[in-house]
Amino acid sequence: MIEITSPVRVRFAPSPTGYLHIGGVRTALFNWLFARHYGGQFILRIEDTDEKRFIPGAADDIITSLRWVGLDWDEGPDVGGPYGPYVQSQRFDSGIYTTYSDQLLEAGQAYLSFTTEEELAAMRAEAEARGVKAFRFRGPERDWPLAQQRELAATGKPYTIRLKTPLEGQTSFTDLVRGAERITVQNDQLQDIVLIKTSGMPVYHFAHLVDDHLMRITHVLRADEWVPSTPYHVLLYQAFGWEPPVFAHLPVILRQDGKGKLSKRKDDVATNRFWERGYLPEALFNYLALQGWSYDDKTELMSRAELIERFSIDRVQASPARWNPEKLRDMNGIYIRRLPVAEVAERILPFLAGAGLVGDPPSAAERAYVAALTPMIHERLEELGQAPELLEFFFREPRPGPEGYDPATLVPRKLDAPQTAAMLRAVHDALAALEPWEPAALEATLRDLCERLALKPGQLFGAVRVAVSGRTVAPPLFDMLVALGRERVLARLTAAIAALEAG
Ligand code: GLU
Repeated sequence: MIEITSPVRVRFAPSPTGYLHIGGVRTALFNWLFARHYGGQFILRIEDTDEKRFIPGAADDIITSLRWVGLDWDEGPDVGGPYGPYVQSQRFDSGIYTTYSDQLLEAGQAYLSFTTEEELAAMRAEAEARGVKAFRFRGPERDWPLAQQRELAATGKPYTIRLKTPLEGQTSFTDLVRGAERITVQNDQLQDIVLIKTSGMPVYHFAHLVDDHLMRITHVLRADEWVPSTPYHVLLYQAFGWEPPVFAHLPVILRQDGKGKLSKRKDDVATNRFWERGYLPEALFNYLALQGWSYDDKTELMSRAELIERFSIDRVQASPARWNPEKLRDMNGIYIRRLPVAEVAERILPFLAGAGLVGDPPSAAERAYVAALTPMIHERLEELGQAPELLEFFFREPRPGPEGYDPATLVPRKLDAPQTAAMLRAVHDALAALEPWEPAALEATLRDLCERLALKPGQLFGAVRVAVSGRTVAPPLFDMLVALGRERVLARLTAAIAALEAG
């Protein structure tokens, strides 16, 4: 068992470089569960110092997506907190990073580097030509007195600020996910990374670390891809003389076939796509908790409260997690089935409105109609976004012909078009007079008709199903007829008969 000392403070620190990747939500979720399990704080910080990759609106998408999944934060850009601001560009404006880069310069732990991008590229190419596998840059100014560095800067020559990494020895750290194993690198394998760009903007390595320190972050739970950078972070903590947080790198999420990471190009990974498709946040939450963590070897369905209670770093696996869209879909179906039907009716309304099947907002009559339709699809729904397609014919006339369904699908086995037309006419006349318009009465009448016409129920029911829905697969016939109402049913039968007669 890993001993965790309270109070814990963790953070999710996304960069607003595009929509929120579902893997990012997993990272946020693990941090959140960790904080909630230990009664600590969860902080949201927006890391927007990379001007080149910044996308306007992305921070809002991140916040909306996280809230949609059901996460909340104790401190963050929109809620404030004692260690704000929680957006790095705002922290930059207040001069925080300069204070700390000055501190490192004064301490001789960092230096002003005047090597330009072009010079660096030339040095790299030259080293490669000499057969050097990994070029490791150390600027000449690392050995200059600071005054000399400052003098050159005063002439207006552009510079970056680089970390003066030790040339000898080694740097190591432990990771909660990897247990006792220490991760060690030889310092001569490192280089003098940039901390502050020529624009004066801090890079991620510097900014996040200063912020983690100032925000009193105790545990850093983040994606596995940051493991190779962590030695630099450890060196930076040493350079400042600060206590580093405890690291826990979360396993990468592989694509379903195991070939590579979940990818923006090949997979549906934007979090907003999951709400567009009608995933329930509670199902996504549950599924994501299992991407790299497990309670035991069998329990999968867990409520938010259970996950908070059960979450532990001990059971975060070091090996990669595997994304499985079908499993997520199944789980979503389970969560949908667990909801009361009235609740499902409410939750599908926005999807129906989006498809133009009901108004936005829907009228009281539309709401009532949807409430009556929902029981017919409740069991079958795996994504709420399927509702418009499943229910479309309840709102729009299915038209026999080139624009709609193929009239040939009306004709049952062993009958031809004129016989089918006659059969549907008989159905029409029987239903025109039927009272009450209820499932039992409809069923009795149609079965009776089958007997009188010497037809199999399958033949007659099938043709009626297609006539009223335009489909061969649809919800239970009698419930469907009741919901559609007599007028619509008779009009659709008439249209089907006409198509058969014309064809
Ligand atoms: N801004 C970094 C990212 O987007 C944060 C990494 C970290 O958690 O340290 O991945």
